[in-house]
Amino acid sequence: MLRRSFLAWAAASGATAAASVAGYLRWQEITPAVNAPGREEGHFLRDRKPLPAPSQALSTDVLILGTGIAALTAAWQLRKQGHDDFLMLDGPEPYGNAAGGHFGSLVYPTGAHYLPLPTEECAHVRELLADLGVIQRGATSRKPYYDERFVLHAPEDRLLFNGVWQEGVLPHEGVPDADLAEHKRFFAQVEVLRGAVGADGRRRFTFPSEHSSTDAESMQLDGMSFGTWLAQHGYRAPSLLWYMDYCCRDDYGAGVDAVSAWAGLHYFCGRGGEAENAEPGSWLTWPEGLQALASGMERLARPKRLAGSAVRVHTDGAAGVEVLCFALERGVARTFTIRARRVISAMPLHVAARVVENMPDVHKQIHAPWMVANFLMKRFPRELPEVPLSWDNVVHGTKGLGYVVSTHQDIRVAPPEKTVFTSYVALADRDPREARKWMTAASGDELLALASVDLKAAYGAQFERCVERVDITLRGHAMAVPVPGFRGDAGLKALREMDGPVLFAHSDLSGFSVFEEASWWGYRAAQRALRG
Ligand SMILES: Cc1cc2nc3c(=O)[nH]c(=O)nc-3n(C[C@H](O)[C@H](O)[C@H](O)COP(=O)(O)OP(=O)(O)OC[C@H]3O[C@@H](n4cnc5c(N)ncnc54)[C@H](O)[C@@H]3O)c2cc1C
Repeated sequence: MLRRSFLAWAAASGATAAASVAGYLRWQEITPAVNAPGREEGHFLRDRKPLPAPSQALSTDVLILGTGIAALTAAWQLRKQGHDDFLMLDGPEPYGNAAGGHFGSLVYPTGAHYLPLPTEECAHVRELLADLGVIQRGATSRKPYYDERFVLHAPEDRLLFNGVWQEGVLPHEGVPDADLAEHKRFFAQVEVLRGAVGADGRRRFTFPSEHSSTDAESMQLDGMSFGTWLAQHGYRAPSLLWYMDYCCRDDYGAGVDAVSAWAGLHYFCGRGGEAENAEPGSWLTWPEGLQALASGMERLARPKRLAGSAVRVHTDGAAGVEVLCFALERGVARTFTIRARRVISAMPLHVAARVVENMPDVHKQIHAPWMVANFLMKRFPRELPEVPLSWDNVVHGTKGLGYVVSTHQDIRVAPPEKTVFTSYVALADRDPREARKWMTAASGDELLALASVDLKAAYGAQFERCVERVDITLRGHAMAVPVPGFRGDAGLKALREMDGPVLFAHSDLSGFSVFEEASWWGYRAAQRALRG
């Protein structure tokens, strides 16, 4: 964006429609509110600032470190199994990547926003959705019945390609027949691979991924990049390769050359849940994104939550585990200790590595940086005629991942006056460390320019005139990237198998970050914690 600031028209107070002429309007500068969850606590820990002596000592049976999806799943299970002696420590961000926000009554996600229909193998997610009332009947059947309000309705997604919108995200209008033939060949291959079973008798691509095959062929697939696999299989159509790269950036925060072929294929082959009242492969979504599920889990779990972050987790033999915690209040630290029989570490692994004593070494897991921007729209922008505004709106060839409309699921006679557009950008075009440095140093204008790249491409100059407020969330270590070879990491394997006083539960254990995986580790950790 060339201008120094992002500007939008704001009517002078009391101005009537008739009086809406330049004299009664003024340009109002919109300064984005920028939020970087965990940055302050992270830097505090990294800089090893001296801490005051603990002012309080608490004890509990099970202590859960974190309140993300893995943590909340563990809490829901503990409560469901009749265990109520547990505490949760929030960490820097309640609900983690499943957090959300609001502009008045308009809610929005600041991270995760959708969940594909879970397959039968994903029984832990089905059980949770049934407890939350999202599945209304048949949770263990092939086709459960879902609450209609949360099944994504049409128009689902569209793509701006060569200046024209088309339905779906894979370019198909205005691409050569040879490309279309390749699209068909790829999806036929996906259908075959979806049913593939490894030499160990396990399906090659499942959720939870822990149950997927680890036979030689699967591990060979994991050892190469998805880009290499596509080339080896003769996929050259630019439209298909762009789409593959888009999908990897969208799910993993990195492109086809950075993620493993197993992970790239898992995106397509691991899903395909069905419903009695939705098309196969449909999605579930909520205006506030997966915060709806996180807050629902909290309601079911009824945990005692404490503000603060863990700074040291020390296992003390038969005496259990002692956790030193700190809470920052206006930059000033207060500390307290919590003693527990078992601790479920549901923090990201790069944080746990600094906090949990004697933790097995994990290979250098790369975390992709993301930016999520929420634009409060005082009115809907004018649309090009071809395809109506959809839930997900993607622009071909930009650094962005498109934008989602928070009010999409509202079934109304007339559209609401205001809405929220949520734009997503994974900073996949540069080294993650460089990207984090850039995010820390960037001005509000620079962040806004990147956050609005797709919206400006879609709406041109009129976009700015529709915006009232902007909230930007910077997630420096948003999600683990499933780099080639990630499935064979010995450190990750050791953490997954740990069954001592400290248990691990976070999507990082899978090496990639989606709801089904995060919740799996929380579910499993609770079972282990309950075994005594
Ligand atoms: C922008 C974005 C969009 C996404 N979209 C989707 C989507 O649409 N669908 C989907 O399935 N997945 C999506 N994901 C993936 C998402 O990360 C997972 O679905 C899931 O929310 C991860 O949960 P988690 O519990 O593994 O970890 P996190 O969300 O990382 O939670 C970690 C928790 O640990 C806490 N913590 C950190 N440090 C400490 C400390 N020192 N002490 C105590 N606690 C600490 C944090 O406060 C937090 O509560 C998205 C991710 C991002 C970043």
